[in-house]
Amino acid sequence: MFVVWKGNKVIVVLIVLVVAQLALVGFAIARNLPAKNSALIDFTVVIDAGHGGIDGGVVGADGVKESDLNLDYANCLGQIFERAGFNVVYTRKTSNGLYGLPTKGFKQRDMQERKRIIDDAKPNIMLSVHMNKFAAAYRSGPQVFYQQGSDDGAALAQSLQRVFNDVTGVQREALAGDYFVCRETSCPSVIVECGFLSNPEECAALQTPEHRNKICQDVFNGVMLYLYGG
Ligand SMILES: [Zn+2]
Repeated sequence: MFVVWKGNKVIVVLIVLVVAQLALVGFAIARNLPAKNSALIDFTVVIDAGHGGIDGGVVGADGVKESDLNLDYANCLGQIFERAGFNVVYTRKTSNGLYGLPTKGFKQRDMQERKRIIDDAKPNIMLSVHMNKFAAAYRSGPQVFYQQGSDDGAALAQSLQRVFNDVTGVQREALAGDYFVCRETSCPSVIVECGFLSNPEECAALQTPEHRNKICQDVFNGVMLYLYGG
């Protein structure tokens, strides 16, 4: 009845996946395993918090730095995957950049270090977390990008965007582009722009734990849709 009423395959798949996620957590508890750092699934997710250190990324209308929000979202997202039994590797766990000294060429060194961490992890997927900006303040909502020419990246990005679209009611396409961390890694990789800091309302919302948790759960559901959905 519920299925017929919804008439939405995505919703049904997500309900099944959330139940599966809860079952995994229950399994960990039943075996007296700590929910964290106890990979139950042979599947590694690299979570890349964009920017950091002297590279703050986009600055919000109220002065909030994208790099700080990215780190907060990356940690939240990683915890969701860890609790579900996935192996998670983070490119950065502090507010510092990955470039060493803040001297000439720091951005290039930062990106190379991210590539090294991703390569070493031999991940199944890579999710790079960012916040967006646009000249006009009205634009809002999550947007997913992938490396042009990567079919796997496109499939992962489309699954994430599909969940976002389903939740927000705004229909957007996952978009192709050229991004170092996606181009230079061999696994399916995406850039997740969680929302627009250039939109004052969304900028404020993005800084609340409720909004962060929701976006991160949507990303997790998108990955589940990519892995198990139709
Ligand atoms: Zn960014």
